[in-house]
Amino acid sequence: VEGSLPSLLEDAAERYGNRPAMVFFNRETSYRRLFDEVLRVAHGLQRLGVKAGDRVALVLPNSPQHVIAFYAVLRLGAIVVEHNPLYTPHELEVQLKDHSAKVVIAWDKSAGKVLELKDKLGLEHIISVDITRGMPLTTQIALRLPVKKAKASRAKLTQAAPETMPFTELQRSSRLPASVPMPATDDLAIVQYTSGTTGVPKGAMLTHGNLLANSAQGRAWMPGLVAGRETIYSMLPMFHVFGLMLSVVYAVRLGACVVLFPTFDVSLVAEASKKHPPTFLPGVPPMLERIIRSAKDGGVDLSQVRYAISGAMALNPALVNRWDDVCKGQLVEGYGMTEASPILLGNPFSEEATEGFVGLAFPSTEIKVVDFENDDHEVELGEEGELLARGPQIFQGYWNRPDETAETLTEDGWLRTGDIVVQNERGFVKIVDRRKELIITGGYNVAPSEVEGALNSLEGVKESAAVGVTRGRGAEVVTAVIVLEQGAIFDEKAARELLREQLAEHKLPRTFVVWEELPKNLIGKTLRKKIRETLNRNKN
Ligand code: ATP
Ligand code: MG
Repeated sequence: VEGSLPSLLEDAAERYGNRPAMVFFNRETSYRRLFDEVLRVAHGLQRLGVKAGDRVALVLPNSPQHVIAFYAVLRLGAIVVEHNPLYTPHELEVQLKDHSAKVVIAWDKSAGKVLELKDKLGLEHIISVDITRGMPLTTQIALRLPVKKAKASRAKLTQAAPETMPFTELQRSSRLPASVPMPATDDLAIVQYTSGTTGVPKGAMLTHGNLLANSAQGRAWMPGLVAGRETIYSMLPMFHVFGLMLSVVYAVRLGACVVLFPTFDVSLVAEASKKHPPTFLPGVPPMLERIIRSAKDGGVDLSQVRYAISGAMALNPALVNRWDDVCKGQLVEGYGMTEASPILLGNPFSEEATEGFVGLAFPSTEIKVVDFENDDHEVELGEEGELLARGPQIFQGYWNRPDETAETLTEDGWLRTGDIVVQNERGFVKIVDRRKELIITGGYNVAPSEVEGALNSLEGVKESAAVGVTRGRGAEVVTAVIVLEQGAIFDEKAARELLREQLAEHKLPRTFVVWEELPKNLIGKTLRKKIRETLNRNKN
């Protein structure tokens, strides 16, 4: 691939001109207008001293300003670093320190947290974004933004901190002169933090070429989507790589209209679908689950959906069946990770999926399944091993973490995914579990996902997690944490008997605990690490 993300947007502005690029409640922004805004904000940022290679932090919910800021930073050859606006001050501090951006563009409701860090981290400019500008009051109420209180705190914010600059000031700049060079294909575009499911989030370095490649591969994966015709729902947060790729990069390649949701709220989705019904829906399983329920009750209008994709965590086949009952558009699973921009594998849209498999390698992506102990040794088809992948979407390493980079990227460019998989004779891959989360008990490796599958099949069990709890000298025992459906009662003895029919002796949980809920990260993945730590602590 050649070019850069801002050149992709420039092409889209020429090609799709007055077609809507974004819809945010009552506001529509055309491709031409989007590109114009990007040039203004880029110029404003340049005047603040932002230059090629600098990191600029975004701490924003999905909003038009988010997309504009993203492309404006990139237009200068600077690097975007995304952050969850709901992060605690400590979580923000760790990441801001790691990449040492001097300029932060933050949601006004998060700007206070950033301001607290200003002196400590030597931040030079904090730009605050009011996403409610021009938003009808009823929408603000529907969004549950505390209208009155928000006004008061905004006043307080400006009083306490005259240092923040409103985003609108950047938007009022003149356009960036065309003489400012576009970034090169191999320049870094983003430092994208991983989800932190297995440890501290790490900043994956991705180039313009990496992101362009994955969007082109996505285009080939979904040949049924028509350029300049689609409406994509942006419900996934853009600070996570899945949402960022689909609604900010892929959407522009497709010339799609992106309907932006600042938070995932199914009633907002239902409302938007009356005016701009989605044709393409990317999501994670818990989101799609809520969409299905709403659609059944006449809420979300799925009548125009042609494709839906699920990723980031395993998609339960029962959910696919329920999807098929309410929507004629096909729901297909993909697999990926931050380090791969993110998609590596996807099930083809042309055929019925094989249950449990996440699909075939993307175009121009090589994959192999290797022995845990020895990367050079590929396992036989049908045997478990670690998935390795190589292709134009694979990252450049972790920011500031040479040791972890060396562990993850081989010298000849293979990404060690850390995921255990099985490949069948047709090339389809099944994800078994993460290497780091295997339970090692009595000399056996037990995949938590297999135990959880059995637990979830029990009546009254809403969800579950299986983890290894340490018992003397590092030996682990399988422990089940379950969350029950409302009103259900857990009968341990009966459960054991039913589980015995599905699981071999060494996989059977020794201990069961019932919790109100499972700890999850912000994209909805269960944090088994946290559960394990809690159980190990309680034990002592
Ligand atoms: P960290 O690397 O910080 O521990 P993370 O791995 O959860 O966090 P991401 O890059 O967001 O961060 O997630 C990638 C991982 O998500 C993959 O390695 C895989 O374990 C899991 N995953 C992605 N898609 C699927 C899928 N379709 N089915 C099962 N697991 C998936
Ligand atoms: Mg990971």
